[in-house]
Amino acid sequence: MDFDLFVIGAGSGGVAASRRASLHGARVGICEQGRVGGTCVNRGCTPKKLFAYAAHYSEDFRDAHGFGWEEVRPGFRWADLIAAKDREIQRLNQVYEGLLEQGKVTLLRGRARLADAHTVEVGGKPVSAANILLATGAGPFVPDIAGGDLGFTSDEAFHLRALPTRIVIAGSGYIAVEFASIFAGLGAAVTVVHRADKVLRGFDEDVRTFLIEELRKKQIAFRPGRTIKRLGHKGDAVQAILDDGEVLAADGVMFAMGREANTSDLGLKEVGIEVDSRGAVAVDADSRTSVANIFAIGDVTQRRNLTPVAIAEGRAVADLLYGGGGRHLDYAQVPTAVFSSPAVSSVGLSEEQARAGGRAVDTYKSSFRPLRHTLSGSDERALVKLVVDAGTDRVLGAHMVGADAAEIIQSLAVALTAGATKAQFDATVALHPTAAEEFVLLRTKAPPAAKPA
Ligand code: NDP
Repeated sequence: MDFDLFVIGAGSGGVAASRRASLHGARVGICEQGRVGGTCVNRGCTPKKLFAYAAHYSEDFRDAHGFGWEEVRPGFRWADLIAAKDREIQRLNQVYEGLLEQGKVTLLRGRARLADAHTVEVGGKPVSAANILLATGAGPFVPDIAGGDLGFTSDEAFHLRALPTRIVIAGSGYIAVEFASIFAGLGAAVTVVHRADKVLRGFDEDVRTFLIEELRKKQIAFRPGRTIKRLGHKGDAVQAILDDGEVLAADGVMFAMGREANTSDLGLKEVGIEVDSRGAVAVDADSRTSVANIFAIGDVTQRRNLTPVAIAEGRAVADLLYGGGGRHLDYAQVPTAVFSSPAVSSVGLSEEQARAGGRAVDTYKSSFRPLRHTLSGSDERALVKLVVDAGTDRVLGAHMVGADAAEIIQSLAVALTAGATKAQFDATVALHPTAAEEFVLLRTKAPPAAKPA
């Protein structure tokens, strides 16, 4: 065999798995058809967060006036942001390549296809390996509607030649909400068209209700309960024709309607690897596919499409194969954030998830005007919420909408992972004046939330 382990896809998960396996003494190869670093580095988490910072300055300039700064009308150059972002991504590509080199992982360039259970063809050349790891990620789903090619996805959003002044976004998940805030912050008129009544399906209902109100305050328009039937154009403008006949004129239409596992032309069927009903590679708790020596991690398995999850899954496979034993990730304790403005972040269970199955649950929540906005003139508010097991007093979920929510929830994730109780939150001394202190000052039980529509 050429390698003990061969990894297909050098994104966050594949790189982490390959380096860990090599550290355990395995001979490891990895292949990549694009840029090393995958979705997160090249067209996901990192450039998105840089864009979110850029977008937030418009509010910061406005807010400064309330603190005595003279009003300014700063100009914004989209091309400069794209160039600065590209420079940083290029630097990160090199960092990732360096990590592979230092980790003694052999990087092959080219598109991979499974030939049999122990052979991968990379750019047509066979490579043999005892074990194979699929880490090919996922790509944006584009609906099959007339004129669909007039729209773009998050992949292209990072390279648009100009910032559209009117944007229609289809979908209301992570990407739709984050880009709605980014484009609105940068000065575009944004309309979000979504089929559910609220944004962010799966998040706590209070969070969903609160966020949509906050986003409306930032002039983001919503068309709930609707879908785009087709796209057309009139002169330079794109037209989104909705299912109720409304026509939205825009300079750009973005599809943010979920992501599909990258499995096409990988040779899965020929080798006997099963995929599930969503087209994702089916795996067991050890990330093993239906073929015993082939594993799959990260977005191609569509378990929890988050970079740290892919990294943890990848390292667990490496430990299982070469480190004397694997471990299973506790998906219930994975913190998550949506970098909208204001941001959303959660760890643990939503109130609805906690109540499912008849568990007795207490909730504590507070919505407030952050201190900064007593002078800034902004009407932005924040929400914090704890979901507590009424029987054991254990905190099952922590949720926040507000500035720095992700930074705050990351720390609370430690407490929840350690099994903290509400009494321990209450015994924690507040750090004043912060928004985070609200989490240790919640004393009044809230009435149960209204059932979702
Ligand atoms: P999501 O799964 O978050 O949301 C998909 C959206 O598309 C939902 O609003 C869904 O509606 C809608 N949708 C799907 N199919 C249809 C359809 N046929 N017609 C109308 N609407 C449809 O996907 P995203 O693309 O936003 O992001 C993909 C994943 O990437 C996320 O789930 C997340 O795991 C990850 N991600 C994480 C980020 C982070 O950690 N900050 C940032 C970006 C992405 P409905 O709600 O009604 O189902």
